[in-house]
Amino acid sequence: MTEIRDTVILGSGCAGLTAAIYAARAGLQPLVLEGHEPGGQLSMTTLVENFPGWPEGIQGPELIDNMKRQAARFGATFQTAHLNAAELGVRPIRLTASAGEILTRTLIVASGASARWLGLPSEQALIGHGVSSCATCDGFFFRGREIAVVGGGDSAMEEALFLTRFASKVTLLHRREGFRASKIMLERAIAHPRIVLRPNTVVEEVLGVEEREVKGLRLKDVKTGEQCELAVSGLFLGIGHEPNAKMFAGQIDLDAEGYIKTTGNVLTTLNGVVVPGVFACGDVQDRRYRQAITAAGSGCMAALEAEKFLEAQER
Ligand code: NAP
Repeated sequence: MTEIRDTVILGSGCAGLTAAIYAARAGLQPLVLEGHEPGGQLSMTTLVENFPGWPEGIQGPELIDNMKRQAARFGATFQTAHLNAAELGVRPIRLTASAGEILTRTLIVASGASARWLGLPSEQALIGHGVSSCATCDGFFFRGREIAVVGGGDSAMEEALFLTRFASKVTLLHRREGFRASKIMLERAIAHPRIVLRPNTVVEEVLGVEEREVKGLRLKDVKTGEQCELAVSGLFLGIGHEPNAKMFAGQIDLDAEGYIKTTGNVLTTLNGVVVPGVFACGDVQDRRYRQAITAAGSGCMAALEAEKFLEAQER
């Protein structure tokens, strides 16, 4: 017979690993399923300077590795597996993963949100070497440099405005004429003396792959077809995030953009009614803060709720 676990945690980013530390210390022996982005977004950044407790900063992958070892020390186990299907409305919850079927009394969804990338090979090769999807994490490294931001929504405006704290010039590249951003954000960007908006422009290649650092961009004007090069030291993607929650559609409430809706911080619902034993934490349910520390905080809450849920079941 397949073993029934107390807690399975989907995702091994900051939220999932914090949930694992708490659940493990509560004796729940959590199983953490690590998907295609083990360690989550932190594992793709360099120096993290705003995580409390690290006055000199800590490398994102090191922070994740520390959390993983901390969870393992208290009995959490890890499995590399892709979740193919989940039945959340049955007892125990039934998960069909690439590694086989898993039964569990509680599920903590910490599957995060993945930054959208342009998908250019040169862009992918230079992630962490001048290409970033997180202005808050990496903006500091571009003090006095010229950089570019891609996108035409609020995230791109926010990133561009934030990056003016460091960069000497920010070129905002958008693929069409009209901007999706709210009027107020767009007006702020237009009014900023160090931001230059360049609509109708796409990035065709990030230059500097051989040198292993961004040297510039090859751009194309989509109206005229004209190509040119723009010398920049950094490229920031502000083209949105996609929450990794599609596989739960129809079983728990998602908002219009696919983020898991939660009540009481981390409880999931279906048609507004709490789904027993299924909790969500981190960026998969947070479209607002999206910080490592807020993800960790909600991971802690999810584990405490799972523990309370299991206790109530035993009574
Ligand atoms: P978004 O509104 O979906 O905008 C994404 C932008 O990226 C769009 O301009 C889109 O271009 C562009 N884009 C998408 N894929 C692209 C690609 N492959 N190549 C080039 N450009 C691409 O996403 P968001 O800006 O992250 O905002 C998401 C939500 O959060 C929105 O509701 C937003 O208002 C909110 N938000 C609010 C704030 C704030 O108020 N401070 C800050 C951040 C986000 P097209 O326009 O051509 O589709």
